[in-house]
Amino acid sequence: MSEKIRVFAPATIANVACGFDIMGLALEKVGDQLTIQKTDDERLTIGSIIGAENIPTDPTKNVCSVAIQAMLDHIGSKQGFHIDISKNISPGSGLGSSASSSAGAVYGANMLLGKPFTKKELVQFAMEGEKAASEKAHADNVAPSLLGGFTVIRSYDPLDIFSVHYPEELIATVVFPAVEVKTADAKKILKPEVALSDAIAQWGNVSALTAGLITEDFGLIERSLQDVIVEPVRSILIPCYQEMKQAGMDAGALGGNISGSGPSVFALSKGKETAEKVGQAMSAVLAKNGIAYELFISKINPVGCEIIN
Ligand code: ADP
Repeated sequence: MSEKIRVFAPATIANVACGFDIMGLALEKVGDQLTIQKTDDERLTIGSIIGAENIPTDPTKNVCSVAIQAMLDHIGSKQGFHIDISKNISPGSGLGSSASSSAGAVYGANMLLGKPFTKKELVQFAMEGEKAASEKAHADNVAPSLLGGFTVIRSYDPLDIFSVHYPEELIATVVFPAVEVKTADAKKILKPEVALSDAIAQWGNVSALTAGLITEDFGLIERSLQDVIVEPVRSILIPCYQEMKQAGMDAGALGGNISGSGPSVFALSKGKETAEKVGQAMSAVLAKNGIAYELFISKINPVGCEIIN
C-alpha cells in the first residue's frame, strides 16, 4: 500500500545584502512542487523532472534523494520513496533551486514517516542535499525554505538557526536575468580576507537589519541593507547590475543586492505598490539592454514547506 503527498517548497533569497552566508528569506509561489510516495521496497527513486533540464535522476546525485537518505540513515530506516519533481525556478538562478528540492523532499518524507522531526531538525538533512549540489552543506537557503520567514544562522557547529520577526508590509522584488553566473566563479572571485574596517561596517549593518526587522523600523532596514564585502566584488559578474539597482532605489526600494550568488537581483520595499514600481524600473534596464528576464514580486512567505493538493 502506498501513501502519497504533494509538497510546495519555496524558493529563497540568501545573503539579503549584509548577511552573507547567514541570512535568508522565503518567497511565495515560486519554488518546487514535489510528489513523494512511500514504496514497498528500500529504494529511493526519482521519477519525472518537469521544468528544468540536466537535473540528475541518479538517486545518489539528485538532492531530493540525497537529503532523504541522510534522514533515513539518522533513524536507521530502510523505507523506500519515489519522488516526482516539478520545478518553476531554474537551477543556477540564485534563488535556491537545489535547496527547494532538498527542503521539500525531507519535509514530505518526514510527514509520510509520521513526523519524527520538527522542521528545524530537518534542516540538517536538507543541508546534505546542498552538499551534493555544491560541495558545502549550506543552510542559508534550506533554512528559510523549510521554516519560511526570515532566518539567521548563528553557527554551524553546533547548528543554531533562529527566525526573525519582520514587517508584513516588507515585499521582495526579484529580477532573474537570463544570463549565467557559475556558482564556482561567484565563489572564486571572493577574497578570503576582509579588512577590519569592512567587517565593522558589515556587522553594524547585520545587527541593525535584524533590529530593524524585529521593531518594524523601515528607516533602520533601509540604512542597513548595505553590503561592503561581497556586492562590490560579485556584482561585476551581473550585467547592468549597478544601473538596475539604482533604478530600483530611484523607484523607492529600501535596498537591494544580489540574491544568493546571482544572477538574480532582489530589492526590498515597503508595500506592494512600491515593489511593483521597483520591479518595472529594474526590469526596464534589462529590457533596454536586450537581456531577457523573469520578474517576481512576493511577500515574505511565513510558512515555508507545506502540503498542497
Ligand atoms: P541554486 O543555487 O539555484 O540551487 P546551484 O547551481 O547551486 O543552483 O545548484 C544546482 C545544482 O544541483 C545543479 O548542478 C543541479 O544539477 C544539482 N541538482 C541535483 N538535484 C537537484 C534538484 N532536485 N533540483 C535542483 N538542482 C539539483
